[in-house]
Amino acid sequence: MDRKGGGNRTSQVMRIGLIDVDGHNFPNLALMRISAYYKARGDTVEWWWSDFIHYDIVYMSKIFSDVYSLDVPEPLNADKVIKGGTGYAIRTVDGKEIFDKSKDIDLPAEIEKSFPDYSIYPEFQFAVSMTSRGCPRGCSFCHVAAKEGRCAVKVADVSDFWCGQDEIKVLDPNITACREKRDLMQQYIDTHAKIDFTQGLDIRLLNQADIEDINKMRIGTLHFAWDNPNDDLRSKFEDFAKGFRRKSDIGMVYCLTNFSSTLEQDLYRIYTLRDLGYDPYVMVYNKPSAPKEIRHLQRWCNNKIIFKSEPNFYKYHP
Ligand code: SF4
Repeated sequence: MDRKGGGNRTSQVMRIGLIDVDGHNFPNLALMRISAYYKARGDTVEWWWSDFIHYDIVYMSKIFSDVYSLDVPEPLNADKVIKGGTGYAIRTVDGKEIFDKSKDIDLPAEIEKSFPDYSIYPEFQFAVSMTSRGCPRGCSFCHVAAKEGRCAVKVADVSDFWCGQDEIKVLDPNITACREKRDLMQQYIDTHAKIDFTQGLDIRLLNQADIEDINKMRIGTLHFAWDNPNDDLRSKFEDFAKGFRRKSDIGMVYCLTNFSSTLEQDLYRIYTLRDLGYDPYVMVYNKPSAPKEIRHLQRWCNNKIIFKSEPNFYKYHP
């Protein structure tokens, strides 16, 4: 069969299989771009579903490490299997995750610039965007600096991801640190879509102009992080709470535990945030290795019924 609409190519229509190794809990941007690219060339793209079907190429994408998302067997009946995503570049040594840049494969430029094919995830109605990459901080538990560099730079416009959806999930690792953030923030404002900064805003870098921009956006839940127990961010969170137009439900704040903090430091962050009107959310580094006390802390804090009914962790009896 000749290629349909395949530009200059005269080869046959290819059958492309996709595997979202992490499951289908969130749209995988790389797979949506791969799908769009091949569909535009007239190829057949589908979720891989059987070794009885021959595929020309199967793309497997994995975002999370094996601690959170186990790999799946490679398909047998494929001419080529391409595995990519951060999850394939992380290995765990002595309970710590290490990112191996040499194992991280970038998508070819022609795929990277494809507009995402949202139709492969019909269960999700929102757009996902990645308008900047990199982060100057280099937190030791995070792979962003090793993967994307220690400078937050604009890499795309919102229109490269958004086609009118009512909500945009922003995946930029630290848009607050990006030099072009005024431009990007204005682009997000102009969509009038509901904006969800899923990776969190860096409270240490938020300035008055940022807060004014955020006040102009339709915002669902704002996400922040307070990961380093040695940073006392109380005044930064206070300042944002004063400038933000919403006076309750200010935002959810991820608090990393089981990495370098004591229980007292964890509780200081949790109580401080709660008192300022934020919603603290405990993240547990390498959860399978976490002591029971930390898992109880996570359950107490993250289950809002428990958290509201028992404000003192030491009185919580799981
Ligand atoms: S600030 Fe966030 S994105 Fe940047 S290195 Fe730390 S955890 Fe990663």
